[in-house]
Amino acid sequence: MSIQEYFGSMVFDDRVMKANLPAGIYKSLHRTIERGTKLDPGVADAVASAMKDWAVSKGATHYTHWFQPLTGVTAEKHDSFISPSPDGGVIMEFSGKELIKGEPDASSFPSGGLRATFEARGYTAWDPTSYAFIKGKTLCIPTAFCSYGGEALDKKTPLLRSMEALNKQAMRILKLFGNKDARCVRTCVGPEQEYFLITREMYDKRPDLRFTGRTLFGKKPPKGQEMDDHYFGVIKPRVAAYMEELNEELWKLGILAKTEHNEVAPAQHELAPIYSTTNVATDHNQLTMEIMQKVAAKHGLVCLLHEKPFDGVNGSGKHNNWSISTDTGVNLLSPGETPYENAQFLLFLCAVIKAVDDYQDLLRITVATAGNDHRLGANEAPPAVVSMFLGDELSAVLEAIETGAPYMGAEKTQMKLGVDVLPKFNRDTTDRNRTSPFAFTGNKFEFRMLGSSNSIACCNIMLNAAVAESLKIYADRLEGAEDFETALHEMIRKTIKDHKNIIFNGNGYDEAWIKEATEKRGLLNYRTTADCMPHLLDDKNVNMLTAHKVYSRAELESRCEIMLENYVKTVTIEANTMVSMARRQIAPAVEGYTLKLMDAVSKKRALDIGLDSGYETGLLKELSALTSEIARRTDLLEEAVGALSGTVEEQSCGVRDLVLARMEELREVCDRAESITAKEFWPYPSYGDILFSVK
Ligand code: ADP
Ligand code: MG
Repeated sequence: MSIQEYFGSMVFDDRVMKANLPAGIYKSLHRTIERGTKLDPGVADAVASAMKDWAVSKGATHYTHWFQPLTGVTAEKHDSFISPSPDGGVIMEFSGKELIKGEPDASSFPSGGLRATFEARGYTAWDPTSYAFIKGKTLCIPTAFCSYGGEALDKKTPLLRSMEALNKQAMRILKLFGNKDARCVRTCVGPEQEYFLITREMYDKRPDLRFTGRTLFGKKPPKGQEMDDHYFGVIKPRVAAYMEELNEELWKLGILAKTEHNEVAPAQHELAPIYSTTNVATDHNQLTMEIMQKVAAKHGLVCLLHEKPFDGVNGSGKHNNWSISTDTGVNLLSPGETPYENAQFLLFLCAVIKAVDDYQDLLRITVATAGNDHRLGANEAPPAVVSMFLGDELSAVLEAIETGAPYMGAEKTQMKLGVDVLPKFNRDTTDRNRTSPFAFTGNKFEFRMLGSSNSIACCNIMLNAAVAESLKIYADRLEGAEDFETALHEMIRKTIKDHKNIIFNGNGYDEAWIKEATEKRGLLNYRTTADCMPHLLDDKNVNMLTAHKVYSRAELESRCEIMLENYVKTVTIEANTMVSMARRQIAPAVEGYTLKLMDAVSKKRALDIGLDSGYETGLLKELSALTSEIARRTDLLEEAVGALSGTVEEQSCGVRDLVLARMEELREVCDRAESITAKEFWPYPSYGDILFSVK
């Protein structure tokens, strides 16, 4: 079968709807999808029936409301289509009611206190803007997940709300610029996804990988990524076979997997789809992560999505490429052809600059996890300080607007908004900086702080909401302005003046930058999850997010609680895994090797062979010192975990200040022991074994 034939073959997309629904029903549903109008209940039954027939024809036997609870992964509960028929057989049934609303017994999903467990009922509601699809033998219906009190228990609901908030404010701005065609404004996202691929055989031998997704011990291999020979290198046959099947599976689901290549670290790869509307991109990225793991299993491989599976080797991130466009296909972050379009572009650009500066903390919070804390600021990913890269050309334009000085571009003219045309930016010059957390790349922004396993919902919720807030302030001012152009110019100028501190075009990995950012520019530097998360509830953040109806205060409180709890639990599991591995496998291994050496020593003595070189005795001394130290530090780590108490915020501070430090101390001696213990005694495959395991 050709790609064109099977692309989207498992998706109930527009083509299928058009072919299988009565014209009136199709039109009504299409209106809901395109414009967000309320769905006519009469339509639901017809759609459900067509959906079921289509799914059954593809071999589906079950359906599920597919949703994204706050655990960060997706959830599904399967119901079969079968219904008894009077003759003792079964018929396949699926009603509009079942399509629109589901009631999973969702009491064990985290709700951060939003829904007491005795009131277990939450409900899922169909999101018609994201197509239903078939996975295995199950029809999956993308849904939002809410409590009966109406609070969002998932990531999709606030995402849809944030898109609506931005749409509303952006439409006000477009009207001011005389735009009569656009009916709505949407954000688009293309996430670049990094991952590691290792063999199942290696994975199974490492309890740390199995329990925590990352290695907690391990000495750097003699060869890592220093030769830069893996990046964009030739793809190994086994990896190529994996990528081929992965692409096929993703294409069947209508996911536009486009590029794939090797990344910097050995065994590290990247996959990027073609961008789509934010909520669809979010659903697709969740699905992609799931299918990456499933396909790997079929190939005897394991796909690691952890942010930092190996110490000393680059971890995996995700780049959230984001733009704003109209339903008529105009990218509002693309400099236009006419002076007026340019002024509009600059206004949207300023809205983003202001948003990122005012809500640095929210952006940092959306990427905060125990795993990602290991990457940010470790010279492999942007620092924990949020800043923006605009490139020299655009920065020069902004400076000229701010100071009123002539723009020193090619024509050396003074920039007058609404009169002058902006110079064409060369995409290459805007794309070179790879160290910036938030970079303008010609016609979109690339937010680069995400960890590989993060849901992209979180950052896009905050980004959309913060930009909606900037646009609202602009629209309020401009709608009441006597002279639109003067007011516009003044507002752009003021934004640049007030927010230029967030713009940094230099090297984000440079130590000197962190100093300048925090000491001179006053930018925030929340190094860990424990540091940043409580700021979710700062007044300015709660006020903004509730004003745009993206989150209620209770929803924010629940998220703060869940994220901190997740941080504490993740690190606690890691610490317990370390304790168990150190005690039950590493210390005994070192003892075993020690005994062997002692045996050699006594045999040599008996035969009166000299021990002049001191090889055995020197080694024995160090090994036995290490064994005691491993035992001591294991106890200390266990004690630190046992001492965690109080509120979840207090516990998160305990994790940050003590548990993580003791984990590092224990690891240090174990890794030293690994480097002097004979390989045959070591209980796990080494970094070298794992990273170069896929041929
Ligand atoms: P790189 O960052 O490696 O230079 P690309 O320019 O190919 O990569 O883009 C990376 C991602 O950005 C892809 O997923 C692509 O679809 C997405 N992208 C491109 N244009 C836009 C846009 N206007 N809005 C959102 N995402 C976009
Ligand atoms: Mg990129």
